[in-house]
Amino acid sequence: MQEVKVEVISHGMAYGKAISVMDNYVISNSLCSNTMLEQQLIRKSIEEVIVDLKQLQQEEVFKDEEFIFVHIMILQDPVLLQEVDNLIEKKRYHAAKAFDEVISYYIEKFSQASTVYLKERNLDLKDIRNRVLKKLNRNFFKTLDTDKVILICDELYPSLLMEYKDSVAGVIAFKGGSTSHGAILCKAREIPYVISPVIDVEDETNMVIDSRLNAIFIDASEEMMHEYKTLKKQLKVDKPIDDFSKYKIKVLANISSNEEIDKVLKYNMYGVGLYRTEFIFMNLNRPLSMEEQCDIYSEAVLRLNGKTICFRTFDVGDDKQLSYLHTSHKGIDNYKNNRELFVNQIKAILASNRYSNIKIMFPMIESYDEFRYLRDWVYKIKREERNYSYIKVGMMLETKQALDHLEDFKDIDFMSLGTNDLTSELYNIKRSEVLNYQSFIDDLISKLQKVSEHCRKYNIELSICGELAGCSDVTKKLYDINIKNYSVSVSNARALEHSLKECLKIK
Ligand code: PEP
Ligand code: MG
Repeated sequence: MQEVKVEVISHGMAYGKAISVMDNYVISNSLCSNTMLEQQLIRKSIEEVIVDLKQLQQEEVFKDEEFIFVHIMILQDPVLLQEVDNLIEKKRYHAAKAFDEVISYYIEKFSQASTVYLKERNLDLKDIRNRVLKKLNRNFFKTLDTDKVILICDELYPSLLMEYKDSVAGVIAFKGGSTSHGAILCKAREIPYVISPVIDVEDETNMVIDSRLNAIFIDASEEMMHEYKTLKKQLKVDKPIDDFSKYKIKVLANISSNEEIDKVLKYNMYGVGLYRTEFIFMNLNRPLSMEEQCDIYSEAVLRLNGKTICFRTFDVGDDKQLSYLHTSHKGIDNYKNNRELFVNQIKAILASNRYSNIKIMFPMIESYDEFRYLRDWVYKIKREERNYSYIKVGMMLETKQALDHLEDFKDIDFMSLGTNDLTSELYNIKRSEVLNYQSFIDDLISKLQKVSEHCRKYNIELSICGELAGCSDVTKKLYDINIKNYSVSVSNARALEHSLKECLKIK
């Protein structure tokens, strides 16, 4: 057994079997022991991709899309399957490795082609590779003799976690930081996540992560695995977070799926201060309809049973891309370019506002005009839908431009400080580094103080939902500038409760 010291991003303990995920997929290099099973896996995965593509063809917007026909044709090519079968049988490759090798050969060939047409087929092949590997991975996880997987990857992308969310017990990455969206998801789901020096671990090796010791254990003994299993069971007591309402303080939750609502209820948090809705759109191959979205939002509202909930309209771009949308950077252009999706989302949120305690929040607002433009859109949809429920419409304060023009934002229901993006922009650092704040925290707090004073003056409700809200050593500074609403990942709620008690000098 080997112990390796690591940097902890999301706290907790985990035990399970190692699976290395490179380039976002599991392509295991070990020899397969059951070639028949691998051949079945590839067939099943290809069939599932074809079913998905055919479903996509039913959608009005994709009905005549040539690429879907091309993808289905390639997948049904018997030569492709034959070549994959050969590699599985002769070289004892796992299905993913065999498929990857065959398709990579064609990608390479096409990239050398002289015609633009053939070069463009490369994109089709890459897309097919992604789709099939995702399915293979999902099916591969199901065949593992454990539901506890420790993912080992170079860098954690949110899509990876979304893909294998039910099987992942812990994550070990070689690079990354606390405010990446992968980290945010781990914290929200209470999945231990650490950054380790590069390690070389065979798939299915026993692994343990223990954030209390800032360590991982490679090749852990069966006794150790058993010990951690027992420990985890004992620790599963979710005592509610203290109620701070008599101090006019609210502890809210940042969530990205309905699955996290159980924890919000168990901890008896005040409500949801930030629902990152883009995560419900991820890892799908088509947009969600208004009805499908309405089901999701209504379920959240019902389960929260009267607690407040703030839906942030989808915030895509940069590290959060959707395969079926044209996005590059975050910002409101994504709504202008994908108008139907935006309108459907607003309709769905409005339709689920049965207790009139929903808020709508726009991300990445740069100017008051942008905010007003989106809010007018909401009001227009509200009128058209004859929706008379009461709804607050607000924004995230997370761009330098908005901060520079703070005075313009007077007539607005609420603001939430998105310190992840704001800090990254203000101090020109990567999102992954924004929690190394020692050198700029005083300057940042003085800027946030101005926002707080501004909000007080114009009666704008203010909260903070960036990761800074969960940093114990910053709570006192935030409290001192009169920030009363803290929205944090569920896994940070307990630490926040402690530091708020310290601020309030209560036991
Ligand atoms: C932020 O930027 O602080 C924020 C809460 O939004 P996200 O982390 O989703 O970009
Ligand atoms: Mg942000």
